[in-house]
Amino acid sequence: MGNMPKLNPIKVQRPPIDLSQTVFMKCESCQYEFFDIAWRLGKISKFADGNKTGQEINIESKVFICRGCGLRVGQKVETTGH
Ligand SMILES: [Zn+2]
Repeated sequence: MGNMPKLNPIKVQRPPIDLSQTVFMKCESCQYEFFDIAWRLGKISKFADGNKTGQEINIESKVFICRGCGLRVGQKVETTGH
């Protein structure tokens, strides 16, 4: 039956952005505004040219697919692990 620890008061901060100013990205082809995320998963062999780590590297490539027409609109490549 101890006392509950006192919680620090949460400071309410106004975010430094106004979300109403958002300009939503549209598909270049069909102007649709909704996209699915698809992942491409790959590997770079430890024997590959340009791989100086001596280890196999996993590659994750995030791709956005337009839900309207299926066009791929963006790509971001991330590497994970070694
Ligand atoms: Zn589209």
